[in-house]
Order: sequence, then structure tokens, then C-alpha cells
Amino acid sequence: MQDTLDALVIGGGPAGMTAALYLARFRRRVALADAGEPRAAWIPASHNIPFFAEGIPGPEILARQREHLARYGVPVIAARIARLERDAEGFVATPEQHVPIRARNVVLATGAVDVEPALPDLPDAVRRGLVRYCPICDGFESRDRRIAVIGHGARGAGEALFIARSYSEDVTLLTLGQPMELDGALRARLDRHRVRIEERPVIGLDVQGGRIAAVRVDEAELRFEILYSALGLRYRTSLAEALGAVQEPNGSLRVDAGMMTSVPGLYAAGDIVAGLDQIVVGMGHAAIAATRIHNACAADREQEG
Ligand SMILES: Cc1cc2nc3c(=O)[nH]c(=O)nc-3n(C[C@H](O)[C@H](O)[C@H](O)COP(=O)(O)OP(=O)(O)OC[C@H]3O[C@@H](n4cnc5c(N)ncnc54)[C@H](O)[C@@H]3O)c2cc1C
Repeated sequence: MQDTLDALVIGGGPAGMTAALYLARFRRRVALADAGEPRAAWIPASHNIPFFAEGIPGPEILARQREHLARYGVPVIAARIARLERDAEGFVATPEQHVPIRARNVVLATGAVDVEPALPDLPDAVRRGLVRYCPICDGFESRDRRIAVIGHGARGAGEALFIARSYSEDVTLLTLGQPMELDGALRARLDRHRVRIEERPVIGLDVQGGRIAAVRVDEAELRFEILYSALGLRYRTSLAEALGAVQEPNGSLRVDAGMMTSVPGLYAAGDIVAGLDQIVVGMGHAAIAATRIHNACAADREQEG
């Protein structure tokens, strides 16, 4: 086992790399462990990142961040952390096929995984860019188009309304065969925004030019220009759960104003935290967590000596 770090960052997406950058610039002993599967890698081109008016693809955001971090010599362990334990001095993280790492603080930035829609013969539709995930990210680029939202219940209705209110007057909610049980008020709002609800299961697709051009329900073919999935995320919280960290009802991690979870010394940043799953938000979380860790380490040192 190596010497104790001030902080180990787990997760090398936009949030984790920002935390590591801040900590390195605070001259803290920091390392980053990353399993190498960031959601950010699936972004075809983002137009809502300030400074990149022409848009920037997710892989380029990640490459720029990696290059930035490399300038500070932050060690990067290319491995999944399989176990995270706590003892009197802080944390012991065990990466797959590496020696354990000891750290006084941990920033968990392990992100989340999109729940993929069960479309006939089409696995990983979000990852392959055939179905979009995030109208907050790219609804503007979808404006005035014929849009389908895959979802059901209050979440599906909410996303369909979000799009219908701001971007398009032609929105259909595809429930993929799930019955839509809504209270009267929500149904009235859907009606007011003329959101159509299609509860029949999708039995076939017409994929043309890298996009889903039509879906088949019974004998009918429904044509769309853009499909969004509103099925939510699965948060990668297993390491925090094993330490007993408090979670929100949707499974994300609960944090305080300094981004600390209910486990002392365990911070969280990015999609894994409740709230808006956006790059600039995750970077903000990371900046706050890193600064809090830096100040806590400085206070500890003053007390020691
Ligand atoms: C198709 C698509 C388009 C999007 N478009 C936009 C957009 O335009 N603008 C925007 O702001 N957001 C967009 N997003 C959302 C954005 O991608 C996320 O908000 C962002 O990637 C979250 O960053 P993160 O660092 O929290 O997590 P991630 O980017 O998911 O990175 C988490 C990292 O942690 C690693 N990890 C997980 N578990 C472990 C472990 N146990 N040990 C070590 N490493 C681990 C993962 O392998 C991964 O590398 C989009 C998302 C998708 C899917």
C-alpha cells in the first residue's frame, strides 16, 4: 500500500477530472481512478457548454480535460475501484488488479448509466445516437421538429411537457405498451399542450440514415424526426452504498452544501448527485467538493501542529 493521499477521485468523467484538477492546483496529494466508461463519451456534439459556441463532441471534452490534468502530473489509475472501505485514518480503495490506495478523503464521481428503451431489434439506441436522451442538452437543436418521447408515468409526461412547452408543438409520448396512469391534472396539462399518447407496443422500426424515421404499432406507422428516451438513469452508487451513504428516493446520492455525503470525508460530484445531470453542473459540484477538501485538510494540519 502507498502513502496516504489527501484525496482519491473515483471516476474520470468531466466531474472527476475537474475535482482532480482543482485538488492538484491546491497542491494536494491526489490521484484519479477511472474505469473508462464515461457517459460524456456518448455526446455527439454539445452546444450548451460555455466557450464552445460551435459545439464540442464529448470525446473531445474528455481529451482536453485529460491533457489539462496531465500538466499537473496527477497519477491516473486506469481501473475500476472494486471496494471502498473506511478506517480510522480515512479510506482504503481497492482497484481491480492494483494495490489498494489509501486516502483521507474520496470524491466519488462515478456517474450514471442511461436506461435504454426496449425497442425491437435495437439494443443501445441511446449510446448509438439513434435515440436522444437529454432535451435540456439538445432540445434547442430539435426545435419545431416532429418529436417522440419514449417514457411513461409522471417522468415520461414531464419530459413530453418540457419539450412541448419550449421546443415543439408536435410531441407524442410512446409508452412502449405500458398503460399511462396519470392524475387528472397531469393529463389535462398534456391535453393543453396537445401531447399525443401512444400506448400500443412498438413492434417494428424503420431506421434510415442513422436515425429512427418511423415506428410501427399494430398496422400503423408513426413517423418522427427525433426520438428522446425519458426512462431515467441508474446511478453508479455501489461504493457509497457499501459505506451506508444516504440516497435520494431516485437512487442518487444525497450531499450537503459542500458536496459531502452522509459519510464523513466521502464527497460526490456529477451525475451521481441528485439534480441536473449536466456537465457544467458536475464541474461545479467538483469545484465545491475539492475546495472543501482542501480547506478541511488545511484545518487538520493546523490542528496537528
Ligand atoms: C447522448 C448524451 C448526450 C448528452 N449531451 C450533453 C450535453 O450536450 N451537455 C451536457 O451538459 N451534458 C450532456 N449529457 C450528460 C453528460 O454526459 C453527463 O452529465 C456527464 O457525462 C456526467 O459526468 P460525470 O463525470 O458525472 O460522469 P461520467 O461522464 O459518466 O463519468 C463517470 C466515470 O466514472 C467511471 N467509474 C464508474 N464507476 C467506477 C469505479 N467503481 N471505479 C472507477 N471508475 C468508475 C466511469 O467508467 C466513467 O469513466 C449527455 C449525455 C448523453 C448520454
